Amino acid sequence: MGKKQQELVIISGKGGTGKTSIVASFAALAGKCVMADCDVDAADLHLVLDPQVIRSESFSGGKRASVITGRCTACGTCAEVCRFDAVSFDGPSNSRVEKTFRIDPVACEGCGVCSWFCEDDAIDFGPAVNGEWFVSETRHGPMVHARLGIAEENSGKLVSLVRKEAVNLAEERGIGLVVIDGSPGIGCPVIASITGADMVLVVTEPTVSGLHDLLRVADLTRHFATPAMVCINKWDLNPQVASEIEEQACKKGLRIAGKVRYDRAVTKAQISRLPVVEYQDNGCSGDIRSVWESVSSLMQST
Ligand code: SF4
Ligand code: SF4
Repeated sequence: MGKKQQELVIISGKGGTGKTSIVASFAALAGKCVMADCDVDAADLHLVLDPQVIRSESFSGGKRASVITGRCTACGTCAEVCRFDAVSFDGPSNSRVEKTFRIDPVACEGCGVCSWFCEDDAIDFGPAVNGEWFVSETRHGPMVHARLGIAEENSGKLVSLVRKEAVNLAEERGIGLVVIDGSPGIGCPVIASITGADMVLVVTEPTVSGLHDLLRVADLTRHFATPAMVCINKWDLNPQVASEIEEQACKKGLRIAGKVRYDRAVTKAQISRLPVVEYQDNGCSGDIRSVWESVSSLMQST
């Protein structure tokens, strides 16, 4: 039996294309959906949707070493074998030595080599807490979002977890649509965002880099055989490049879902903590509505 929930992922080759404004507006237009903010490096959907957190959990995506001060004999082996310069000789004293070794949790890459070589069993090699994830209620439905810890890298694991929890929540509550604010780029996190999705909407802007990023993302969606559409945001800032994007997108087999004009109301809506379609009816809100209609009707027909 196929899955009951449809997953729509909105991505962009890079940040700053206005992707999150479009996701927030889709949430408002969908009636009822579960939202997943998979842009965990720069999560900002919560700024517009004003979520009330009802559950929070820590996220562990790997392991990390730390010296057990009381057992350390200051032999220095861990510093010798660490290839990431994460070990320094400035730890506190214990009953045997005046100074012990210490591991910098930010520099530690979690390879585990030091714990393998420590003959005194003085290195704890356990799960690292890399961030937190949350389930929240918003006026447009529940939302799953996350926050990476300071200096933590997004490996795609947290993205997969946020997406999975959003689908579970949709199933529990009988909600048929999950709207996912995908990760930027074309690396591991964005692959984790789009794999197995029912539809991808690529939000781009009329710049040379916007076109370049769109073509890279198009290759990615084709590779994963995920149906994809394109939205050209702020198209009227450069109509010539916008036309070129339309042409190139068609050559790549991508459908144009629509174009959204540049509108200062987007910023004003953000300041008011509202999706722009709730802030005004005309201007770019009309354009976003028409993009939403194209995307939702294609999803219903698949
Ligand atoms: S290898 Fe073990 S005992 Fe030696 S300095 Fe490192 S933590 Fe201390
Ligand atoms: S786990 Fe690896 S990176 Fe971390 S301190 Fe030990 S050797 Fe260095």
